Amino acid sequence: MTDRIYYTDPSCRSFEATVTRATEHEGRPAAILDRTAFYPTSGGQPFDTGRLGPVEVTDTTDEDGDILHVLSAALAPGTRVRGDIDWRRRFDHMQQHTGQHVLSAAFDRLCENRTTSFHMGVATATIDLAREASAADIDRCLEEANRVVWEDRAVSVRFVSPDEAARLPLRKEPGRDGTLRLVEISDFDLSACGGTHVSRTGAIGMIAVMGAERFRGGSRLTFVCGGRVSRTFTDYRDAVAGSIRVLSVLPHELPGAIERIQLEAKQLRKSVSRLQERLAGHEAARLLAGAPSVDGVRLVVDTLDGWDASGLKAVAAALISHSGVAAALFSAAAPMVAVTARSAGVGIDANTVLHALLDRFGGRGGGKPDLAQGAGLVGDTREILAVARELLGVDS
Ligand SMILES: [Zn+2]
Repeated sequence: MTDRIYYTDPSCRSFEATVTRATEHEGRPAAILDRTAFYPTSGGQPFDTGRLGPVEVTDTTDEDGDILHVLSAALAPGTRVRGDIDWRRRFDHMQQHTGQHVLSAAFDRLCENRTTSFHMGVATATIDLAREASAADIDRCLEEANRVVWEDRAVSVRFVSPDEAARLPLRKEPGRDGTLRLVEISDFDLSACGGTHVSRTGAIGMIAVMGAERFRGGSRLTFVCGGRVSRTFTDYRDAVAGSIRVLSVLPHELPGAIERIQLEAKQLRKSVSRLQERLAGHEAARLLAGAPSVDGVRLVVDTLDGWDASGLKAVAAALISHSGVAAALFSAAAPMVAVTARSAGVGIDANTVLHALLDRFGGRGGGKPDLAQGAGLVGDTREILAVARELLGVDS
């Protein structure tokens, strides 16, 4: 069993230890020490990284009571090493983890809503609450949690027997037998926990809830603490500043402004497609006037500027409403949209022609023997038109 320094001294960042065993973990060298301050992934808190003398610690895991340090190079048994923990990473974890205790206790005390699960990610952390929390509940509990943070209450650790623990009002039931490690936030929370915590709540800095969603009959809350609140604020500030500059509105007017723009865009798309449908007949007539005729079939192969995908389709449909027409229409801009079509009775399969074009110039699409549509074609326009003419049965 490795002696876990962080159990009693979570602020320890450097220590001396001896390698007791050299081993491997998923093909990488690993070492077990007689004592360590490195925290292994457990209880929702990720592992520590850092150095053991000259080598890097890239992962730390708990293997049946022994703590395994995964290393960049092997260390021989008996080696005396100095361990240094990546403190920025660890302190961030301590802020999130202690903040979680405070936030969970606030929901427990104010709303009798228990935390069933905790997970700490790279950018945010989550707690799952047993029951659904309303926006008002979240605001109220968050305010209470930050009050406790700013009161700078002591966070202490003690060890008790299971019998003693059974008589104590623990918020979180112990998940293991034997001696229990209790973490107490003065006059606010008492939980069994093996993680690392800051020594006073003031070091959490601040707790911010980023969002809530329904999850398994309760609520999943995403939150950040300490330095992550500051980084999140900077990200949000940049995003909001960029948006209000482009839209020329105040921050609180942003949602309304975006909704208006979305509505306008939708109306414009509708009116463009109505106009294109009305124009399609004229465009088809213009194209047919200059179309060469081969064996009685008029062939229209061209790029159309200023028409979107549904416009091209409308022109193609107008073309094949005339008898004896085969057509391949393309958008002018790359990657190109392609529409292939033929009138009833013309012996060409538009879908086969389209797939031959897609095979050659890329993109996706499909359709029916009389009309098919694809997008994402890339290549030289003249070459694409020449291949289309060839497929439709005309040499240019
Ligand atoms: Zn904890």
